[in-house]
Amino acid sequence: MRNPLLLSTLLLAGVAQAQECTIDLKGDDQMKFDKTTVEVSAACPEITIRLTHTGKLPVAAMGHNVVISASEVYQAVAQDGMKAGAAANYVPAGDARVLAHTKLVGGGESTTATIAGGVLKAGGKYTFYCSFPGHWAIMKGDLVVR
Ligand code: ZN
Repeated sequence: MRNPLLLSTLLLAGVAQAQECTIDLKGDDQMKFDKTTVEVSAACPEITIRLTHTGKLPVAAMGHNVVISASEVYQAVAQDGMKAGAAANYVPAGDARVLAHTKLVGGGESTTATIAGGVLKAGGKYTFYCSFPGHWAIMKGDLVVR
């Protein structure tokens, strides 16, 4: 690490990471997200969720979204989302337990959504998950807020 330019680049990257305001997830045709834990800062003025479907299957067969809920209610929300149906992105409408969600995307597509600052509290227990029927039981992870 004797290259000063490289060192300063790394330092800048460190500063940028000090406040994590983006949730970057990839979903694939194996019904998996590329991460099981994501971390954001409670101080973010706004948090951006970015979902990329890296697979090839269409949305009706292997649709993915990202939904954020408190961990203790996420399963119940996902079950209600299933009843809401595909046209509703498998997300119950107007449900306060849905803290944020993207739309469903299929292979090769991507989408974004935002969470207003202050919605996620430091130390809270949150889960990010895909609410597509059958996916949410395994296609999920911990959202850590610092
Ligand atoms: Zn999915």
